[in-house]
Amino acid sequence: MILSRYIEQFQGGKVDNSILIPLAIVIAVLIVGYIFLRPKRKRHYSRRRLPLPTLRRDYGAHIAKKHGRERSAEWERVAREHRLREPACVACGYRGHKLQVHHIKPFHLHPELELDPNNLITLCEARGREHHLLLGHLGAWDSYNEHIRADIKHFYRKTAAQIRADVNWLKKMQLRP
Ligand SMILES: [Zn+2]
Ligand SMILES: [Zn+2]
Repeated sequence: MILSRYIEQFQGGKVDNSILIPLAIVIAVLIVGYIFLRPKRKRHYSRRRLPLPTLRRDYGAHIAKKHGRERSAEWERVAREHRLREPACVACGYRGHKLQVHHIKPFHLHPELELDPNNLITLCEARGREHHLLLGHLGAWDSYNEHIRADIKHFYRKTAAQIRADVNWLKKMQLRP
């Protein structure tokens, strides 16, 4: 046996260097090879996107309910038709799943306008913009902004932080209904 002869040689203090050196090189190559070529652990768990929220909170319906009103059965269809006409946030052009069809005049105050296309506007709830809350409701869900179509020009593409710091917005916010 090569191994037992080796051990004898080692114990006898006369190790054959001509075999030990290539052996050390082979071991070194194996170690280095393992370090560079070891299979990378798949990190799909951290890259995987979080599931999208399937339901956005319907603040309009929530406020209306507080005032004893329910959404019309026709609302889903009317909102869908509005989204086809106005598919992006009018305040920034955002097109994504964080969009709301907003009532310019709230439908608990104007029930006759709930399904009126002229009373609808598409606004986003995108993180860092919050155009639905800030421009549609002037920062409070039970308030509203009748002049939003005109205001869009002034606030176009502004972030939530810029809007909250805007003198015009602060004035409107203090006078909000
Ligand atoms: Zn709204
Ligand atoms: Zn927006």
